[in-house]
Amino acid sequence: MNTLNSSIKNTRQKYREIFMTCAKEIQKRVDELKPAGVNDIFDTFERGSAGAQWQKNVLDMFENEIAKDIYRKWREILDYREKFSCTGCTTCCNLACSEFSPDELAQKAKNQDNFANQFLSIFVPYETREEAQHVYPEYLELLKDTIDEDVYFYHCPKLNEHGRCSDYENRPQICRDFPDNPLSILPKSCGFYGWREEVQPVALMLHSMLEILNYYKDKIRDPEAVN
Ligand code: SF4
Ligand code: SF4
Repeated sequence: MNTLNSSIKNTRQKYREIFMTCAKEIQKRVDELKPAGVNDIFDTFERGSAGAQWQKNVLDMFENEIAKDIYRKWREILDYREKFSCTGCTTCCNLACSEFSPDELAQKAKNQDNFANQFLSIFVPYETREEAQHVYPEYLELLKDTIDEDVYFYHCPKLNEHGRCSDYENRPQICRDFPDNPLSILPKSCGFYGWREEVQPVALMLHSMLEILNYYKDKIRDPEAVN
């Protein structure tokens, strides 16, 4: 189970290509709304001017068309996940990783971070990286190849001596939901690996579109001036 925001790095090159295609597509949509006599969507425009109206129209189009489309497609990806199921390989129980140290997670939990709270209620940290390495050498190798930053490794003490969850029927929601993101790094033994492989190109596209929309929204200057 990994909580890494950076799991997107797994497919850096592919992501870069998809990102550039989406950026061009969105720029085209922005330009289609462009009135005569204006230049750049990121310019500062007078309230009530054609440029300000353009910015408003672009933000509306983002909200009412592109964002809704992203949400609908993301929903479809998650619904499709239902066709796959956990095979009980227990990799995610034996090796959960996070970019946050135990102390950082504890601090987040203290600040009412629900995920950190749940995570700490299930997992305990490995004493050493070597210990984690010993459990899943291939998975650590995969992570090393795909993630630049430091990660911390955890495991669940509920695994019994047969390597199975000792309370599978009552396992926490966080265990039932894993993996809830098709950009997660998964071992090949995971029953959701096929799901991830199938939907990942679309998930990368949606992720890049969201990034681009946020960039536009941040850069469209002085949105209060938009009438
Ligand atoms: S509670 Fe059970 S399913 Fe959840 S991580 Fe622990 S062993 Fe795995
Ligand atoms: S099949 Fe996937 S979700 Fe199930 S235990 Fe293995 S890694 Fe976790």
